[in-house]
Order: sequence, then C-alpha cells, then structure tokens
Amino acid sequence: MSHRKRHKEYLKKVSKAVKNDSQRLAIERTTKRFDENRKKSLKDIENFEELRKEARKIREKGLENLFENIKKFTCEFEKVGGRVIKANTSAEASGFITDLAKKKNVDLIVKSKSLTTEEINLNERLNDAGIKVVETDLGEWIVQLKGEKPSHLLAPAIHLTCEEIAKLFSQVTGKKLPADPSTLVEVARNELRNFFCNAGMGITGANFLISESGTITLVSNEGNARLVSGFPPVHVAIAGIEKFVTSLEETVKLLKLLTISATGQKISTYVSFITGPSRTADIELNITLGAHGPKEVYLIVLDNGRSRMYEDEDFREALYCIRCGACLNVCPVYKEIGGHVFGHVYMGGIGAVLTAFLNGLENAREMAFSCTGCKACSEVCPVKIDIPRLLLKLRERIVKKEGLPWVKKVIFKKLMKNRELFHMAIKTASKLQKPFIKGGTTLRHIPLFFSKYTKSRYLPAIARESLREILEKNPIKKNENPKFKAAFFSGCLIDFIYPEIGKSILKLLGEENVETVFPFEQTCCGIPVLYSGDTGTAKEMALQNIEVLKSFDFIITGCATCLEALRNEYPLLLKNNPTQKAEAESLAKKSYDFSEFLIKFLNYKPKGISNKKVTYHDSCHLHRGLEITEEPRELLQGVKGLNFIEMEFPCHCCGAAGSFAFEYAEISEAILERKLETIRKTGATTVATACPGCIMQIKGGLREAGDKIEVKHIAEILAEN
Ligand code: SF4
Repeated sequence: MSHRKRHKEYLKKVSKAVKNDSQRLAIERTTKRFDENRKKSLKDIENFEELRKEARKIREKGLENLFENIKKFTCEFEKVGGRVIKANTSAEASGFITDLAKKKNVDLIVKSKSLTTEEINLNERLNDAGIKVVETDLGEWIVQLKGEKPSHLLAPAIHLTCEEIAKLFSQVTGKKLPADPSTLVEVARNELRNFFCNAGMGITGANFLISESGTITLVSNEGNARLVSGFPPVHVAIAGIEKFVTSLEETVKLLKLLTISATGQKISTYVSFITGPSRTADIELNITLGAHGPKEVYLIVLDNGRSRMYEDEDFREALYCIRCGACLNVCPVYKEIGGHVFGHVYMGGIGAVLTAFLNGLENAREMAFSCTGCKACSEVCPVKIDIPRLLLKLRERIVKKEGLPWVKKVIFKKLMKNRELFHMAIKTASKLQKPFIKGGTTLRHIPLFFSKYTKSRYLPAIARESLREILEKNPIKKNENPKFKAAFFSGCLIDFIYPEIGKSILKLLGEENVETVFPFEQTCCGIPVLYSGDTGTAKEMALQNIEVLKSFDFIITGCATCLEALRNEYPLLLKNNPTQKAEAESLAKKSYDFSEFLIKFLNYKPKGISNKKVTYHDSCHLHRGLEITEEPRELLQGVKGLNFIEMEFPCHCCGAAGSFAFEYAEISEAILERKLETIRKTGATTVATACPGCIMQIKGGLREAGDKIEVKHIAEILAEN
C-alpha cells in the first residue's frame, strides 16, 4: 500500500476515534487516574530524579552487556532444569510454542498479559492449530471476548467504559449485570477459575530476566500470572532480548520505578521470581522436578528486529523501555484517539520506534508524525528515554526513504531556504488571502493544504504590514548608554502574523534601556522543517540564522518554539561539525525568552494596572523544552489589579504543533477542545501565553466557538498597561 493510501486510511480511523465519545471518556477516566496515582506516589519519594538516572544506567549497562547477560542467564537457567530458546523471528517463536503444545497434546492454554505474544500473533497461530487459548488478565480477557486487540501497553481494555464491559459480560453469562466493577471482577474470577486447573500449558511474558541467577521476573496485581506460571505442567515465558538485567539488586530498583510509573503503586501486589521448574528435595535430598508447579519451564528470547535496533546508535535507547505505559497516560494524542487506530501492538511515541524496527519503517509513519512534540512523555519516562528526539530521527529516516510530500518539498526546499524568496512569497500570500478574510483579521475555508484546518477553526490572516515592514518605516530608536544591546529574533509568526507582539516586546525593552536591533536577514528558525523530517534544510536554516545573530551579546525571542530552536536544536543539528557546533552552542548560551530576560537581567517590575482576570497556558516548548515556567507567571502576577488564576493542567498541549495541526486537523481540534474546556472553567477573561503558535490555535478555537475570551501574548498584557 502506498504511504498516501495508508495515510488516508489512517485519517479515516482517526476521524472515527475522535468522534467515539465513550472511548474518549473511558481513556480519560483511566489515564487521569493512573497519572494522579503516579504523582501521589512520587510525593513520598525524595530522590526520584536520582532513581531515574540510576535506572537509566542499569538499562544502559544491561544492554551494553547483552550477549554476556544472555549467556549467563542461559547457563544459570539451564543448570536448574529450564530451557532457553532463541527465536530470530516471530514465526520461529510462535512455531516453537505451537509445536511444543502439539507434542505435549495440549488442547488448552492459559495466558497472562504479554505484549510480546501479541507481537508474534501467538493466539492466532495456536488457534489455527486447534489449540484453545484463554487470556486470564481481566483486561486481556475482555478484549479477547470482544475480538479486539489491547489498546494500551498496560491496560488492554482502557478504551471501554465500565458500562460497556457490563454489557459484554451480560452477553457472556446470559444474565443482566450491573456496571459495577466488583460484580464484573467476580464474574471473571468464576468464569476463569477452571481454565487454570485444566490447562496443559501456561504462557507468560517477562518483565525482567535476571542474568546472575537465571530468573524470570513477573509483575502483576491480579494474581493470574502466578496461577498461569504455577499451575499448568508446562510454563513458557517469552521476552524480547532487551529484558536482561545483570542482578537481582538492579531488578529491585527497576521494579520500584516500573510500578510507580505504571499504576502509582510502591510495589505491585505480586512479584514472582521464577528460577526454573518447580522442584523438591524432601525425599532424602533427591532433587525432583515438578512438585506442585510446572515440571518444564521454557524461556523464548525473541529478537524480531531488536538486534537491528541494538546496533543502531540512534535508536538503541528505545530498548531501555520497561513498558510502564506512563508515556501513554500523559500523551495528548493518545487521550483523543486511543491505541487501536495505529493498528500495531506497540503504540504512542515509543510504539512508533518499536514498530519501525519490528514491522518496518512504513508501518511506523503515522505514529511517528501523529505527535505534537509536547515532550510530556519524556518528562514521565522512568528510564529517561528521549522519545520526542527518537521520533525526530524516525521522521528523518522516513523522509529519506519516502521523500517529502510535494507541498512541503516546495515550501521547505525552494521557499524557506531562500530567505528573500520566502518573504516575497508571504507578501504574495497576503494579497491572495483577501477573498478568505472574515472580520478583518481571520481566515476561513482556505483551499488546499489549509482546508482541513480552516474547516472548523479560524486561521489568522497575514498581517497587512509585517514587523519587518513596520521597522523599515519606523526604525527602532537608539538608546543613549544602553544597559544591554540585543538582537530581536521574531520568528515567522510574530514577523508576519502578529507584529503587534513584536512591537510590544520592543517597546518594553526600549523602556528598560535595552538597545534592540532587528536583523532583517533573519529567517524562519527551521523548526517546522526539522519536525517534518527534513533535517538537511533545517541545518541550512540554522546556519543562516547563526551567521546573522552571532555578533550580538543577547538574542531575545518572543516565541517559545524559536527559542527551542536557538537554544536546544541548533547545537544538536550541527554537532558533527566542531566549528558550527561551537558557534551554535555560543548562540544557545546568549538566547533568551523575553520574560526570562526581563526577570533575569532587568529585575523588571510590571508598571501598569489591570482589572483583567487572566489565566496562563504554558507552551510545551517553553515549559518542558526550556523549563521556563515561573518567569511568565511572576510577570503576570506582578501587574497591579490583575486577577491571576491557574487553569487545570496549564501545561497540557493545546494541539497546535505546526504542520501537525494541518495534517492531523481532527486530532489537533480534539486536543484543543480539551484545552478550551479548562480555560472556560477558570472564568478568565484573558488567556495569556508566550508562544504565538499557541495563540493562533487557542484564538482560532475560541473564535469558532463564539467565546469572548481574549488571547494575548504576555508582552502585550505588560505593554498595554
Ligand atoms: S517509553 Fe518510558 S514511559 Fe513509555 S512505556 Fe517505555 S519506559 Fe514507560
């Protein structure tokens, strides 16, 4: 299937998912609880950041010593009567299990939750061989009964409400059941009880594999993993090669982080350590296998594309994942569309990387691009995986393989790279937009690339006069004996859409005796290009801007995205050329958000008076990318008379994210709707933010809904007083 067709199919599924209110409600209920529990537990841990660093090191070490770990594990496990089987492909793994089951005349298998068995389509293979498989984890059983696949790494039935599960169980039992969790759990307990006793084989995954002792570690709450691994005569565990950990001590540290991040539990109800088959030596110390537990225990170590990931320096980090699911619980995209739309076992940001290696790059495309880059995932990841960075690398590979869509190719490679042509094109666009302008400053129903976005949101019109045109006519006044000299880097949105923000920033800086220059040769920061996977063009744009800005003492921005480019992205983009890297790092050190600059260097105190009720939206780039959270609040709260009110989840993404909002317009809208709800709940008359991208998104949504709440950049609020 061509990627265009695949994209269309995906958008159809997305469209259905965002309209599925009960699914969105179910996901919202559970992810919110998971995250609240996680945060609550973290309050009791003083050194969580240290633990994360340590966990990261443990994972790094486990993989550095991967081959020794596998060897050691095999040796220890086989010493006590277990057997290790290495499977290169999913067919090899499922083939081995099916053959083993046939050889042992097994006609019923019980399973506990295992994503790895989903990865190899084990149930289908066993069913084809006439073997019945019963899932015993409650969530897994629910999706099995529904004929579905899990929709979350940890909570397979997260997409279903209690009411829907009650309906399903009523069909299974033939009795009308209430939507009451304890009644439903009782049903599952009764229905599944006999299967544990009658199964000829139990199949589990493995959370960790401890090399020093040859021990399989299983974590569960329901107790089914214990029954599955302890009751039937044969136990088969299956795990990817990344699950090896050197020692028990290290495993305990990881366990703590796993359970806190997954469910907020200090430790799960059950942790099983299984070191080979069950045994007894009670009769004259003769070791005999198969006492009360299984007589045979097998571990299948699955590669299935993982060793390619292991060899790939850019992506090895993805193997550190301990499948806690915390990243999904905070992902704004996942909350709106769930996991089924992706069509693969692993989902979300980390799922995109795993899918690329396990199922092919083309299958990871939509997951890789359906991301707002909000960084909420990396903020919670217990092993500090930089998921957004991995996604950028993945996008780069996809674009290298498939090429850019033609619209982007023309815009990025022909226009944006050529500053003069780019600015001329914007000027032309400002003339062409006239038929679509509504109410003087906004656009609706624009054709082509913009059509999906403007179907249900207002897009701001290109300003009649750009900031650069305004400044050409009225140059910034020079200060006598200025305190500081700085360059103002406006970024495209402030320059061409919201010049009034630029004027406010320049006014505030001028009043504080900062001599500010607007270098006319500056161009787009390159983030839209970089996030679209065109790293080569992004590098060229970075070099253009560095050349223009490098001679200034300070560079001040009013756009969180641009600052993220100057401070974080340029040094990484240019890291392979020592001279360019040094220049990028030097630029990064002297680049500031205007709010940060006002507080840090000018000890600025707002001068005016306001009677506004203002709430503040943290832009993802400013909050998580640059960790600037206090300065904007300090400035707003410093305005006399201003009634500042925090919204719930102020740093939850608004769904803007550059071209994401156009390509995945329906997801972006759904995310925005959630943000608007939290804004409305505050009763604020004004939403302040420090990112013109967020302003565009929030303003467009509020206008569409007919809300009277105004949206302002902090600089505008400070300057108007
Ligand atoms: S990427 Fe990190 S947060 Fe996400 S499932 Fe893996 S370990 Fe958990």
